Amino acid sequence: MRIGNRKRFLFSCIFFTMIMLLFGKAVNPVYEKVLGEPYSPMVKAIDKNNKFKKPIREYTIVLDAGHGGIDNGTSYKDMYEKYLTFKIVKYAEAYLKDKGCKVILTRNEDKLIPLKKIGEKVNEANADAFVSIHINSINDVTFKGITTYYYDAKGYQKDERMNLAQIIEKEAIKDDGWENKGIRRENFAVLRYSKIPCVLVECGFITNKEDREKLSKEEVLKRLAENISNGTIEYLESVK
Ligand SMILES: [Zn+2]
Repeated sequence: MRIGNRKRFLFSCIFFTMIMLLFGKAVNPVYEKVLGEPYSPMVKAIDKNNKFKKPIREYTIVLDAGHGGIDNGTSYKDMYEKYLTFKIVKYAEAYLKDKGCKVILTRNEDKLIPLKKIGEKVNEANADAFVSIHINSINDVTFKGITTYYYDAKGYQKDERMNLAQIIEKEAIKDDGWENKGIRRENFAVLRYSKIPCVLVECGFITNKEDREKLSKEEVLKRLAENISNGTIEYLESVK
């Protein structure tokens, strides 16, 4: 190699190395920064914005623990509907409050509230949604699962109420292997009186062994309460 060629070769080598050092090192962190690391938080942020159109804390939800006082509701041995519904409602109340919602209970003690009074309380609350909690029973002991009831008087809020029922049913059966008994239209007084979107959730059959086992576990009641609460929020988020 001639000296001139060697110099040119050396110069080329140094130049190439410098280019590699400059861009090789510089490009990688930029690439990582732009396309790597911030990528997933960016996606999460977009999802969050799409999901929460209105801050959750603004919702007011009325919860009704079915039966109470002299009215035990349905029962099996020492299991009473009025106590189970109250437990579920109290778990849901704590969960919703923690999420920033305002919660109004139709009863906060072991007391019977007339159905018409419940309706009045719901309509005076200026709330966004109303959820009544019950436990089912039937002669056929093989019957099990959760049913969510809605009612539209002459088509009043039909789509909203069906939608709320569908979302709550979907969420309620999510854990613990509950059977999906679907949604049903039923002229229940509490649903008829309410002017806001409302449902009545029959949380399993006390007459069925499997459902009874579920209902006897605090953690199942808590999960159920949280899932029903999530369904209510999901519905409210979808319409606001
Ligand atoms: Zn009941």
